[in-house]
Amino acid sequence: MANYKTQLSYLNSELDIGETTREAQCPFCLKQNGDFAVTRVEDGLLYKCFRVACDSKGFISSNLGQWNSREFLPIFSSPVRKTEEYPFESHIINLNEKQILYLQNKFNLTKEEIILNKIKWCNKTERVIYPILSQQGETKGYVSRYYKELSNKRYDGVKSRTYWINRSNNYYNVSFPYCNNYNVDSIFVLVEDIVSSIRVARHMQCVALLSNSIPTNAMKFFSGKDIVIVLDNDATTHAIKIKQRYSLFFNSCQVIAIDKDPKNMGNEELINKIINLIKID
Ligand SMILES: [Zn+2]
Repeated sequence: MANYKTQLSYLNSELDIGETTREAQCPFCLKQNGDFAVTRVEDGLLYKCFRVACDSKGFISSNLGQWNSREFLPIFSSPVRKTEEYPFESHIINLNEKQILYLQNKFNLTKEEIILNKIKWCNKTERVIYPILSQQGETKGYVSRYYKELSNKRYDGVKSRTYWINRSNNYYNVSFPYCNNYNVDSIFVLVEDIVSSIRVARHMQCVALLSNSIPTNAMKFFSGKDIVIVLDNDATTHAIKIKQRYSLFFNSCQVIAIDKDPKNMGNEELINKIINLIKID
């Protein structure tokens, strides 16, 4: 069993990305009757045994044993920069009243949400800094966002930049907004950006994907949970593809199409267009 990763790794070359086989033998219960499913994803294999008595599931990286010698390749659509001079952590300061008011009015955030999610200001780049948070609230990186109303600098053509400062190879690569305690704790709502995740987290557990797809690393976390993917109309076909590809690994999966980002909705609107549509068994 210790060698199950190497034992299954041949499937990396046998399967196309997104393809599933049910022909492999389960390395845990040793059954080979179609109950063991393996799906290839961008950087590895997701496996799940459907025998209730076994119920093994997990992820095997295709870079097995190479993490130390190989540079981690980010899987986001937006470029992750490895610049020497950033993050200018010494330039990251608290928001002033004007900036707080701006975020409150623009995104319907409360002052408490701004503080709990550690939203700050970068003096040097004159951008709002949204920390990328782990589930424990540690800062794993930053998304810096330009708003013309708040900056005296000329817009350089890139609205938001993502910087990682503290990401280990096995980090989930998503951001967890500050969360209250909810009654339904297996449901996770997935949205694209951090501010939207903060808005949804007022009502339900939520995660910001930081892109319009699910980072493969995050699949380890979402496996077995009830997933609600909230993406705008443009990204909905993509969300449906995600659902088809990964639904084996979720306990359940719902896609909700929206016509604007949750961060741009009023609270009533967000409840009507998202929260009330979530099916809870
Ligand atoms: Zn099994």
